[in-house]
Amino acid sequence: MSKKIAVLAGDGIGPEIINEALKVIACLRDDYGFAVELEEGLVGGVAYDKTGSPLPEETLDLVRHADSILLGAVGGPKWEPLDYSVRPERGLLGLRSELNLYANLRPALLYPELENASTLKPDVVSGLDIMIIRELTGGIYFGEPRGVRTLDNGERQGYNTLVYAESEVRRIAHNAFQIAAKRNRRLCSVDKANVLECTELWREVMIEVGKEYKDIELTHMYVDNAAMQLVRNPKQFDVMVTGNMFGDILSDCAAMLTGSIGMLPSASLDEAGKGMYEPIHGSAPDITGQGVANPLATILSVSMMLRYSFNEVELADRIEQAVDQALKNGLRTADIASDNTQIVSTSVMGDAVVSALR
Ligand code: NAD
Repeated sequence: MSKKIAVLAGDGIGPEIINEALKVIACLRDDYGFAVELEEGLVGGVAYDKTGSPLPEETLDLVRHADSILLGAVGGPKWEPLDYSVRPERGLLGLRSELNLYANLRPALLYPELENASTLKPDVVSGLDIMIIRELTGGIYFGEPRGVRTLDNGERQGYNTLVYAESEVRRIAHNAFQIAAKRNRRLCSVDKANVLECTELWREVMIEVGKEYKDIELTHMYVDNAAMQLVRNPKQFDVMVTGNMFGDILSDCAAMLTGSIGMLPSASLDEAGKGMYEPIHGSAPDITGQGVANPLATILSVSMMLRYSFNEVELADRIEQAVDQALKNGLRTADIASDNTQIVSTSVMGDAVVSALR
């Protein structure tokens, strides 16, 4: 049966990079018989301009009925003066919560050709291949009560609440163990169990779930140490799993080990494996419309979609190999350029991946 993908290009470089990902999907359809239906929708600033909402009802309807979602990026200076409730980024948060996309997968993978793009020494990062799994719909970003109140002495006090129910930890734990089973079978759960009771429970539940996955090595690390280890010796990690806020910070740190924000895809999954796939970078207003954006993170997001939502592992591998081939051929967008490489435009890079795929 044909797969229905909702395509939300969004703002800034979103349409430029999505265009290249669509070329790859067209190639899968025409050359590999991948049955797919694409339907485009509005999200972010462009949606606000046309409908007054960053996540219009028609888009919600579209994503609810789709098998998966491919997103470009949202946001930009034009919409910064808007009220927080209608900012483009609210569209993104709305999609995550509306679809209950609780498992965020962010690989940090360093292509051998890009070793020099990292700020860390090549011997520390060469061969780096980590998967960070972040709980995305719970924890302190959503916990109640929250706010700023005035105390009896007139001083203002800000407060947020870190909460995790056992069931929330258990379901992300299953995702993490199952992903580790498809990789090198090592899972590191990151918490702050020495200080925060909530994460003490997180650790207990991880251990409990781990009993169902006896062939996966489960370790635990405090978040402060994990941050340090990520820059000291990142290759010690295979899969990491952690809560919303720790995951937010650690996954950005891990992404930068590879030195190339334009290379990294991500997936956000619900319980049934339906997902939203997007590059980790934003809408890059500084380079919008110049045809210089790197489309590879978005193309690799399509690969993740095939792997995690459609179980088309072979096609996913082929896309990754095609990206690798384009890099081996010396093609680079400006963000990943180095000596002896050819700087090419967004569309030339997309075409190079498609021709490697063919
Ligand atoms: P950004 O990721 O858009 O850009 C940071 C830097 O990286 C810029 O110099 C940009 O040119 C460069 N860059 C990003 N993607 C690139 C690519 N594919 N190729 C080449 N260079 C690339 O982050 P920012 O500047 O902090 O944010 C810009 C806007 O994007 C803001 O409105 C922010 O809220 C939004 N944002 C959206 C998302 C999302 O849609 N998921 C994520 C982060 C930021």
